[in-house]
Amino acid sequence: MNIKDEGIVLKELRFKETSKIVTILTKRHGKIKGMARGAYRPKSQLTVNTQPFSYNNYILFKGRNFYYINQADIIESFYTIRENVNRVVYGHYLLELADKSILEGDESYKLFLLLRKGLKILSKLDKSFLKFILSYELKFVSFLGYKPLLDSCIICGKEYLHNFKFDIEYGGIICNKCSLVESNCEYMDMAMYQAMKELLYTPLDRIDDINISKKTMFKLHEIMVKYILHKIDRKKFNSLDVLKTLNGQGGELYGNYFRDD
Ligand SMILES: [Zn+2]
Repeated sequence: MNIKDEGIVLKELRFKETSKIVTILTKRHGKIKGMARGAYRPKSQLTVNTQPFSYNNYILFKGRNFYYINQADIIESFYTIRENVNRVVYGHYLLELADKSILEGDESYKLFLLLRKGLKILSKLDKSFLKFILSYELKFVSFLGYKPLLDSCIICGKEYLHNFKFDIEYGGIICNKCSLVESNCEYMDMAMYQAMKELLYTPLDRIDDINISKKTMFKLHEIMVKYILHKIDRKKFNSLDVLKTLNGQGGELYGNYFRDD
């Protein structure tokens, strides 16, 4: 009952003395838990192939509670992510997004491809991290089934709005009138709206020419995080806490942290 699949390690957890349990997002079997026996032993063949970010070909045996990792061959280690603090922090955010949003057994082929593409781009990224993350979040939430609806008011259908908000509950723009009776709405201006639209419809590897002010990106990012957390029914992303800590008191979130623009 050996199966072959490729996958990206999202998380590792020590198990007993020398083993670990890894959460892997696979191409064809969705998110799985893999048991890597002896992965902490010196000279173990599995050490590198069971670290977060690493992308491998696996031969797995399906047990009752786990998939046992019998063999792993590296496809890409994405080691350059570890060379830059921004890449590491945001890389962990990409992994956490996948881990917290995808349930074991869920169909997640598109999300696997997105994560693979995201890590590939991130491993070479030197600037504009927040723009990349925003673009990623928009695609991610769309593949989860919650693509933001931006053409007309999500409640009454009114088009060509000049004043509107973003409705976290329904996932789209909402006119001021309708927003009076909806409780879960966030401030949104025209610059945020246009940036959201542009980043949503531009492929992840073609966002270089898009110019968005830092202020607009910070505000949009806050909305995206709230929106995703609401949809996956979670309270927070631990990887984003690390960002706040790195940035001091968390007052001006990310403010001094990004080197871009
Ligand atoms: Zn309306």
